Amino acid sequence: MLTRRHLLCCGAAAGLFTALAGPSRAGLLNPCRSGIPDALRPLVERTFDGLDASQLWDVHTHLLGTGDSGSGCTVNAQLSQWWHPVEVLRKRFILNAACVPADAPSVDRAYVERLQALAEDFPVGARWMLFAFDHACDSAGRPVAAHTTFHVPNAYAAGVAAACPQRFAWVASIHPHRPDALARLDEALAQGAVALKWLPSAMNIDLRHPRLRPFYERLAAARLPVIVHCGEERAVPGAGRDELGNPLHVRAALAQGVRVVVAHCASLGNALDLDLKRPREASAFALFARLMDEDWGGRLMGDISVTLQTNRKPEVARTLFTREDWHPRLLHGSDYPLPGIPAAVRLTALVKAGLLDAADAPQLDTLREYNPLLFDLALKRLTRWRGARLSPAVFATRLHFQRPAVS
Ligand SMILES: [Zn+2]
Repeated sequence: MLTRRHLLCCGAAAGLFTALAGPSRAGLLNPCRSGIPDALRPLVERTFDGLDASQLWDVHTHLLGTGDSGSGCTVNAQLSQWWHPVEVLRKRFILNAACVPADAPSVDRAYVERLQALAEDFPVGARWMLFAFDHACDSAGRPVAAHTTFHVPNAYAAGVAAACPQRFAWVASIHPHRPDALARLDEALAQGAVALKWLPSAMNIDLRHPRLRPFYERLAAARLPVIVHCGEERAVPGAGRDELGNPLHVRAALAQGVRVVVAHCASLGNALDLDLKRPREASAFALFARLMDEDWGGRLMGDISVTLQTNRKPEVARTLFTREDWHPRLLHGSDYPLPGIPAAVRLTALVKAGLLDAADAPQLDTLREYNPLLFDLALKRLTRWRGARLSPAVFATRLHFQRPAVS
């Protein structure tokens, strides 16, 4: 059933669509439909078959805003590349991915409303972990505006989650160089944050630096996982310190007892293999795989968001599917709003790589037009490699994050 909100959202989004691209580039943009058609119901049922929705937490969901609702969110207009997309995806693609109309009275509100509407297509119990995103900071812990691609305050993420606790939890972001970093961490814990998010290369965080020790101690004591982006980051340039995204750096946190989730399983780009006497480049994913085979007492995990995107090698998915021993430590995440960018995942490429049955592609394509989050989940449930697929454990993520403050 179409609600008034849907009509407002999608009517305006159609205007955005035309203004941006014209009809000839329709395939590049999210048509922002709503209301799942009956014809897609069997696909949705297959998606949830064997899953416990009450355990299904999407561990990688971005909040985004311009601050026009008083949220405190900011976007750095000077940067032409931002976010996590394929190459040069600009703001308009991200807003379209999230179905934020060009003439929305409030970008902040339209973003959250669309996310809520998408969530309503999921069974009761499914939740999304909404990310705050701190500023890039210098070595003295002062925010550096020129390096801050976008900023989402902790208070905003906490507030959005508190307003809809049956669907959302929130993830704090605190730069550890801040003079009051520990106080901020205590505050986030008190407000029920279920994890912490860092993007070291953009935020200027060296995970190995001894100054992080007290912060790690507090994280370990609270058992609060830190979600760390590792591997290449093309879209959030920030401080531009690519070497800080080396997956091997997370050993410093693990060694101090911190639970770590490597975002995207470090599935993009290369990093120096620092274990060699003469370090040379290796794929970041290979370094992540090495870590996963080390004994860290179950503290190392990886989120599988965007690992099926067209800019990832099929070997990544093949490894994730076949390494069943990893599955209890692989976590479902969407990296929303990226699944709303149709070009990000080309189903024909997945079929060609032997990962997707060609017969499933047309319905998946249609589902993406209505609900990119459902599409993302369905894709992860349907893809396989020579019979191996992601087991239900990958989608039972709640146990890794639930804290007493969250009901
Ligand atoms: Zn992300």
